[in-house]
Amino acid sequence: MALIDCPKCAGTRKVVHMHVKAGVCFKCNGTGKVTKMKRVRVKDEWFSVEEPEFGTKHHAKDLEDAKALAAELDAMAYKGAKPAVIIPKSSYHYEYVPA
Ligand SMILES: [Zn+2]
Repeated sequence: MALIDCPKCAGTRKVVHMHVKAGVCFKCNGTGKVTKMKRVRVKDEWFSVEEPEFGTKHHAKDLEDAKALAAELDAMAYKGAKPAVIIPKSSYHYEYVPA
């Protein structure tokens, strides 16, 4: 992995905030270099378990989780209530990985 000059202290190893760790740059830990990182988009797959009678929505990390949650909600609902609905969702977040 490539090392680049620390963008925080520009390789000077010091930051202007002298009260923080005696002015040692916290980003590069005083080395003046950081690992070159690139931003990557990561897709998150998850499930929303929606309970139509009460209008509540619950977050489940996978389908197994969603099914268990739906069963639990159905068990709590009164007899004849509409069953919980499992809706697949996806969203994105960003992560920094070594370039
Ligand atoms: Zn630095």
